[in-house]
Amino acid sequence: MFNLSQKTINNSISCNSVGLHSGCNVNIKIHPAPINTGIIFRRTDLEFGKNEIKAEFKNVTTTNLGTSIANEFGASISTIEHLMASIWGCGIDNLIIEIDNIEVPIMDGSSEPFVFLIECAGITPQNENRKVIEILEKIRIEDGDKFIEVEPAKDFGIDLNIDFNHPQIKINNLNFNSNLHSFKNDICRARTFCFKHEIEQMHKLGLAKGGSLDNSIVIDHDKILNDGALRYKDEFIRHKTLDFIGDLFLAGHYIIGHFKGYKVGHTVNNKFLHYLFSNPQKWRLV
Ligand SMILES: [Zn+2]
Repeated sequence: MFNLSQKTINNSISCNSVGLHSGCNVNIKIHPAPINTGIIFRRTDLEFGKNEIKAEFKNVTTTNLGTSIANEFGASISTIEHLMASIWGCGIDNLIIEIDNIEVPIMDGSSEPFVFLIECAGITPQNENRKVIEILEKIRIEDGDKFIEVEPAKDFGIDLNIDFNHPQIKINNLNFNSNLHSFKNDICRARTFCFKHEIEQMHKLGLAKGGSLDNSIVIDHDKILNDGALRYKDEFIRHKTLDFIGDLFLAGHYIIGHFKGYKVGHTVNNKFLHYLFSNPQKWRLV
């Protein structure tokens, strides 16, 4: 997937859904963009000229229960990670994403509806090669007991471990390799999740106002509250992998390297990118 031309979509496409944390109804319209644009969010409810936010790690402002970005004028957009992961999974480089509210719609809590939208719009190669980040030296960053490590490799891989110690979360590790597995089949359908006891706390903080069993898996002490089976028996670690991929794509480029992660989350994911870009001898753009 890395030695290829840049890609965008054929046609503009739109949908709407609720924002997970804001509870607002959100309209989103995804447009094709020229080569070397990257992924740009545009807030259509804000003043023209001050309403564009590039999807880059240095624009990240909040990593609490989701990744938010903002520009120098204070225009922000939150919960971008599932959409970013779907763009990564579809192999897209350049898009303009118009949104009329403060948050990317949560859809069903996974990346699948966005992958479906992008595929409906059609994916088209562009007349310029993609530049990717090649890791040259092993990097490891830690945050308490959490860590992210990456080593040079010829493809993208992530070996992820979580440690939930909960009877409903039986599988705590996953290995995803871009050569062996597919984002669309193996990752994109995994939904976001939370524990029932966390919901009251999130509501007190003004978060999760749009959360429901239609867009989140809710885990109680001994059972899952949603009707129906999990989409994967290890849906939780697959969703963590999805979040990791979405956050990592804020590098602004695809990264080639083999990652190891333990208890990763939005905060440590962003910390990794800051470390990477402040150590330019450890990678190169090819
Ligand atoms: Zn997520």
